[in-house]
Amino acid sequence: MSGSVRVVVVGGGYAGVMAANRVAGSTADRLPVEVTLVDPGAQFTERIRLHRVAAGSRDAAGVDWSRVLHPRVRRLPARALRIDADRRSLTLRGHAPIGFDWLVYAVGSGEPPTPLLSVTNAAAAAGTRRAITRLAPGAAVTVAGTGPTGVELACALAVTRPDLSITVVAPSGPAHPLTDRDAVARRLHRLGITVEHGSVDPETGTVTPRAPGARPRPAAAATIWTAGLAVPSLAADSLLPVDGSGRLVVDATLAVPGHERVLGAGDAVSVTGTAGDHLRASCAIALPMGAHAADTVLARLAGTAPSELDAGYLAQCLDLGAGRGHVQFVHADDAPRRWALSGRAGGWGKEQVCRMTLAWLAGEARTPGSYTWPAGPAVPVG
Ligand SMILES: Cc1cc2nc3c(=O)[nH]c(=O)nc-3n(C[C@H](O)[C@H](O)[C@H](O)COP(=O)(O)OP(=O)(O)OC[C@H]3O[C@@H](n4cnc5c(N)ncnc54)[C@H](O)[C@@H]3O)c2cc1C
Repeated sequence: MSGSVRVVVVGGGYAGVMAANRVAGSTADRLPVEVTLVDPGAQFTERIRLHRVAAGSRDAAGVDWSRVLHPRVRRLPARALRIDADRRSLTLRGHAPIGFDWLVYAVGSGEPPTPLLSVTNAAAAAGTRRAITRLAPGAAVTVAGTGPTGVELACALAVTRPDLSITVVAPSGPAHPLTDRDAVARRLHRLGITVEHGSVDPETGTVTPRAPGARPRPAAAATIWTAGLAVPSLAADSLLPVDGSGRLVVDATLAVPGHERVLGAGDAVSVTGTAGDHLRASCAIALPMGAHAADTVLARLAGTAPSELDAGYLAQCLDLGAGRGHVQFVHADDAPRRWALSGRAGGWGKEQVCRMTLAWLAGEARTPGSYTWPAGPAVPVG
């Protein structure tokens, strides 16, 4: 036992890397703190690039850990199996358990939610790419979901495989605000993508259109699920408080009620109260949540009261394929503003934002505390 404070971060995505970097950088030379990042991946995965990997317009979405991690962070390549919050012990697959004084839960949402194809993690995206490569010209492809990932994937596929017949199906029926947006609808139309209101069976891929009298039709040659996220069951398996989707429940400081040494950040977490009302699973919010979880740990180490999360949005950015995109500026609560960038300007804007995510992680590793984020809707915005 070294006598250091042991901070363990479980999950090396946007939230986990940000949290680990901030704690490691902010305590260096000042406090004896050991930061360990537990993640089974050989590389950091840029999940926001996986639709392009699946479509074949990008080779991979892996980034060497050394590019994004603070050098003081010890990386433990393992999968966490159980958190014992009372004993402060973490059980790992293939490794001896490790102890912790503070734990940040940041396991994300990369579980494949169905047996259908998906783009939710690197392996799933690679599997989808193989399946698409095997498709004959003219084959039908269903993309289930008209959220950002469904729209981005459909556009990327239409660019790399214009010979396929691509239909995007909105499982919830009513038109999605994204596909209703003029510039996005025009781009989908131009790429020959059909948008259909209906539902997709998550087990079989059978499509039931919404149109009156329409009958279900058998699954397409390939069905790719992008609707809804699935989080790992680690919090539930560890008997920690979870919501109906299995997300770890945390308060506005990002600590678990009743277990203040366990904190959470990112997609795998549900923030109770007004601080979390407007938050959707996104890289855009995983980053500030990771930084805030670190700030809470640092405040506790300093013996001061942690602040409450106050995070908002600036823009929703869509990659619409072949360098085109749509950047919709939004209010802090994610409601659209009047301004947007479309076409090549939108594509340029989207690419800059994707690059910035890595730059923010790397910047936090170099200059602790450098990453800041827009305030949430509780603070008046112009
Ligand atoms: C194709 C695609 C495009 C997207 N585009 C955008 C976008 O444009 N903008 C946006 O804001 N969001 C986007 N998202 C969503 C965004 O990627 C996620 O919201 C974000 O990755 C969440 O970050 P996170 O740190 O919570 O988790 P993740 O990035 O999912 O990282 C979680 C990490 O935890 C690890 N892990 C899981 N279980 C365990 C365990 N038991 N033990 C140890 N480690 C574990 C995983 O291997 C992973 O490395 C996109 C997602 C996809 C799939």
